[in-house]
Amino acid sequence: MQKIIAGIDIGGTGMKGALVDAQTGEMVTERLRILTPQPATPERVSQAVKELLIKLEWQGPVGVGFPSIINKNIALSAENISKEWIGVDIGKLFEKECGMPFAIANDADAAGMAEMLFGSIDKTGVSMFLTIGTGIGSGLFLDGKLLPNTEMGHLIFYGDIAEKYCSNAARKQHKLSTKRWAERFRQYLLHLNRLFSPDRFIIGGGMSNKFEIFEDWIQTGTPVYSSQFKNAAGVIGAAAIAADRLL
Ligand code: BGC
Repeated sequence: MQKIIAGIDIGGTGMKGALVDAQTGEMVTERLRILTPQPATPERVSQAVKELLIKLEWQGPVGVGFPSIINKNIALSAENISKEWIGVDIGKLFEKECGMPFAIANDADAAGMAEMLFGSIDKTGVSMFLTIGTGIGSGLFLDGKLLPNTEMGHLIFYGDIAEKYCSNAARKQHKLSTKRWAERFRQYLLHLNRLFSPDRFIIGGGMSNKFEIFEDWIQTGTPVYSSQFKNAAGVIGAAAIAADRLL
C-alpha cells in the first residue's frame, strides 16, 4: 500500500513541495516551487506553507526541511533566515496555520536522508552529506543512521564559519571562478577528512547541478559523489522523516 505524505523544503529564496510516496521515495506530483516571502518571518512563511499545501491539494501529515538546528520541531538557530525563528516550535506554528500535523527536520539532514533511504550510493560506514547553497548544510550518517544537526558549515575555517569561505553564496560574493571556489571547497573537505575520516562525501544543494564541472577539482582521496536526487532530495527526505514520525 502506498504511504503518501507531503514534503516541503524551505530555503532562503524558494520553497519547494510535492507529495511523495514515502516507501519508494518517488514524487507522485510535480514539485511545486514558490518564492520564500521576504522578510522570511515565521508568520509570512507559515502563510506560504499553507499556500503551497493548497496548491498541492493536500490535507494530511507534512514533513518540512528547515535551514536551522531543529530539536523536537523547535528552531534553535537562524543563520540565513530571520532571527525571529529562534525558539519557535515550527511544528505547532504550521499546524495552527494549516490544521495538519507537521514534522520538522534540518534541511540537510532531510536531504541526506533521501540519499540514504532511496539512493544507490553505498551507505556502509560514515557518509557525510553536504549541501552547497546560500549556506553549507550537513547530514552525518553511520550505516545510514543520522546523527542530527551536525552543522559542518559552522566549523571555524580561515577565521570565520566555513560557509562564509566556500558556500555558493561565498563564491558569488567573492567573485570566485568555479575553479578557485572548488580549490577552497577542496581545502574544506581535507579539513573534514582530518576531523571525521568519512568513507564518502555526497554533495547536494544548488551547486550539485554543476557537479561534473568541478568534480575533478575537489578530490581529496575520499570518494565524493553527487546527490542522486539533486534539488528534490530535501522534499523527498522531509516526507520520509515525517512518515517515520507521523504515520
Ligand atoms: C544553517 C544550517 C543549514 C544550512 C543549509 C546553515 O547556515 O546553519 O542549519 O542546514 O545553512 O541551509
